[in-house]
Amino acid sequence: MLFPSILYGPIHSRRLGVSLGVNLMPTNAKLCTFDCVYCECGWNQPVSHPQLPTREQVRDALNSQLSYMSSASDRSSACEIRTLNSPLDVITFSGNGEPTLHPDFLGIIQDTCALRDQYCPKAKISVLSNSTQLFREDIVEALRLCDNRILKLDSAITSTMRLIDKPVNPSLTVEQILERLSLFDGDFTLQTCFLTGEYEGELIDNTTPEELAAWYHAVDYLHPKQVMIYVIDRATPLKTLSKIPLDKMNEIAAPLREKGIDVIVSA
Ligand code: SF4
Repeated sequence: MLFPSILYGPIHSRRLGVSLGVNLMPTNAKLCTFDCVYCECGWNQPVSHPQLPTREQVRDALNSQLSYMSSASDRSSACEIRTLNSPLDVITFSGNGEPTLHPDFLGIIQDTCALRDQYCPKAKISVLSNSTQLFREDIVEALRLCDNRILKLDSAITSTMRLIDKPVNPSLTVEQILERLSLFDGDFTLQTCFLTGEYEGELIDNTTPEELAAWYHAVDYLHPKQVMIYVIDRATPLKTLSKIPLDKMNEIAAPLREKGIDVIVSA
């Protein structure tokens, strides 16, 4: 499934509330530094000249949409942007790949903050990212401007991370990811997709006792303000994947909740 435009929604997101989505990647292909086995956009495809929207195009699209939604809103509701009978909770950067790959990501986030403040000051700005671009100072600066940094860690064991996320850089390690995530000193949401399956003869399972021990250890090390765990929900490019049952997801969340960590389970 690919998003055919810069903006999509607003939609009711099971994890974020009423969300206006922003896609900074091409509309005809996925562009990502991972190629996750569960990616709802499908497998990476070769793209010779990816057409990304310009900073101006993103700003204009957001300006028109937020202005339209604002003018169509119920004036008696204290100028809240109302859609789907609920206020807009969040402007979410996600879409057809990794949003931080956009070369003007920092400028786009600065524009979005200004437009949010103008039209819907109560809405949050969230970015779903796989963290691979955190070696760039401009990306870290941009993410710090956002309200929610939702950053992926699908396994705390490198071989499993490589099996699930299939990083384009095959030498990427969990240690490198943890070092980058620690830049936010816990001020982020750690996001993990739990799943089982099989890929080219290798078993995938990030719910084994060994996996969970390493993952809990990583959570302790990173002390994120929130942990978001979820299961596959739509069609995936790898067809052997299975959804983890809700009771197992709650079992995974329990030790963190006992420590007072805010855990969202989407199952
Ligand atoms: S990081 Fe996100 S966009 Fe990239 S392959 Fe994984 S699920 Fe898809």
